[in-house]
Amino acid sequence: MRYEEFYRQSVDEPERFWGEQARLIHWDTPPRQILDQSNPPFRRWFVGGTTNLCYNAVDRHLAERGEQLALVAISSETDSTQEITYRVLYREVNRFAGILQSLDVGQGDRVVIYMPNMAEAVYAMLACARIGAIHSVVFGGFAAHNLALRIDDAEPRLLICADAGMRGGKVIPYKPLVDAALAESKAPPPHVLIVSRGLDRDMQRVGGRDVDYARLRAEHMNDEVPVTWLELNEPSYLLYTSGTTGKPKGIQRDVGGYAVAMALSIRTIFDIAPGQVMFSTSDVGWAVGHSYNVYGPLIGGATSLLYEGLPTRPDPGVWWRLCEKYRVRTMFSSPTGIRVLKKQDAAWLKKADLSSLKWLFLAGEPLDEPTAHWITDGLGVPAIDNYWQTETGWPAITLMPGLDLKPVKWGSPGLPAPGYKMKVINESTGDEAAAGEKGVLVFVPPLPPGCLTTVWRDDGRYVNSYFSHFKELLYSSLDWAIRDADGYTNILGRTDDVINVAGHRLGTREIEESVATHASVAEAAVIGMKDELKGQVPVVFATLKQGVVELPADVARAMQQCVTDQLGAVARPARIYVVNALPKTRSGKLLRRSLQALVEQRDPGDLSTLDDPGALDEVRRALERGPDQGGEEPGMLAARKT
Ligand code: AMP
Repeated sequence: MRYEEFYRQSVDEPERFWGEQARLIHWDTPPRQILDQSNPPFRRWFVGGTTNLCYNAVDRHLAERGEQLALVAISSETDSTQEITYRVLYREVNRFAGILQSLDVGQGDRVVIYMPNMAEAVYAMLACARIGAIHSVVFGGFAAHNLALRIDDAEPRLLICADAGMRGGKVIPYKPLVDAALAESKAPPPHVLIVSRGLDRDMQRVGGRDVDYARLRAEHMNDEVPVTWLELNEPSYLLYTSGTTGKPKGIQRDVGGYAVAMALSIRTIFDIAPGQVMFSTSDVGWAVGHSYNVYGPLIGGATSLLYEGLPTRPDPGVWWRLCEKYRVRTMFSSPTGIRVLKKQDAAWLKKADLSSLKWLFLAGEPLDEPTAHWITDGLGVPAIDNYWQTETGWPAITLMPGLDLKPVKWGSPGLPAPGYKMKVINESTGDEAAAGEKGVLVFVPPLPPGCLTTVWRDDGRYVNSYFSHFKELLYSSLDWAIRDADGYTNILGRTDDVINVAGHRLGTREIEESVATHASVAEAAVIGMKDELKGQVPVVFATLKQGVVELPADVARAMQQCVTDQLGAVARPARIYVVNALPKTRSGKLLRRSLQALVEQRDPGDLSTLDDPGALDEVRRALERGPDQGGEEPGMLAARKT
């Protein structure tokens, strides 16, 4: 079917369209109503249906493809490869589910998973899904404070962690971070299940609390754990994401709607049929990792490659050799991943046989044209930009080569995915923007299946954060956008105080709060500065308390360490400027946009609300002088201008 017709049906006759798509998955009880919109902006898809994500991802394939590879877990860090068939996956997930039950985890209980890309992380997620426990995977690059915030909100019954991860050959112990997070947390779970690869030889165990996966696995070798059939209202998982406050939002997803969205998108967007191979380079801690390393390919009966390591180790050909070896059809990565490779010799792209590779999808941040051209030319396959958010769980704007590939327009992720009724709204008038006019990208309710159902235990935050921006009830993506006359949308960046570092979404407020925990810091403002490799990097402007005698450079170094220790290396500020004043409005609001403009050497805009005009001069002087920590040498801005 042509894209236009498919899309039209999905938004004009959503019940008929989604009723048909529902057949893509197995239901224990079929839905009796496709859509319930009686309480907007909440909506319920597939009312009355009961299903299970693990059953659809694993059990359902046993008869037809039990001996086919389901998961290939490759680590260039530990130099290991595990090839796991659907049958083996079924066995491992049953063992893991047995272990969960032995630790008193049941339906509706939360389980926090803090692990790198390893097969056991996937077993853990699927085992939770099997018994109706709600998993919440926390990205392994986040440090103790970030983990503690998520534990406090999810109140888990169990935490599952690896002993350590590895990056660039260096062991990064996870367990000390878990111990620190649990010491800080108000809701520590009674048990920590440790999956050890023997990487951290000095790992300490807390008696009575910490339990060992290998020992329990041996006890549960023959467990068969029945699937718990779940009604649509049951949450399947939580995935925390940064917003404008320091408290991350627990994005909550359902079971049936998500399963249908995965089954539809893996086929029509990612062009993966049962038995074919998908390689997503994402991490299980992110939305892409959940949807296209785990649930999407497995629900679709495909083979999923899970990769732990850098794209450049042992050499920049590592991803392409995997594509050749496993006959990968669709690859999914991020613009930053490709920019890292772009710094290497392009000849690496030509060394492997990529005859099986059809598509490279890139998401998570804007895809710049030079990168898109470089990789498209280098691989000889189209790079398909696709736009989505943790909230949506699957692409909202994309092209759909699995259905009908429309022309690629550089700079745009393309056209709306099925079920996404989109508009671009003029921020001040609240009316729809004309073609070519900048506005805020919104989705007209109901959000399609697969998108978030609410914010965990906080319906008010769901409504306020996303649906209270305009006179009509519209989901605000909090992204600026422009649509052209053909309906192609370009994304122009966030409308809120969220920045995007190498495809990772970070709240500037979280970094400000972390910096301000340093005893000498009075106040901090964080902005995202353009970076050639990572898209954006965090930059801090901070004032110090009266009477501080330490040198600004020493405090700045300590601030950088605070962020690394509390939030993780992903949030590490690239530069820190210590200043005497920060630009604020008379009502005391930080003018981050003016700071941003000064850093980018633009006009800071309307300053009529500025409380102290001297604050901007102070920032200008600091930029001339150079950062107190990080960045290039002092005076580099002045030098670059000449
Ligand atoms: P996350 O929830 O971490 O996936 O981040 C979502 C945000 O990343 C979006 O709101 C956008 O600001 C940005 N983003 C994701 N995909 C794209 C894309 N293809 N082009 C431009 N920005 C993107």
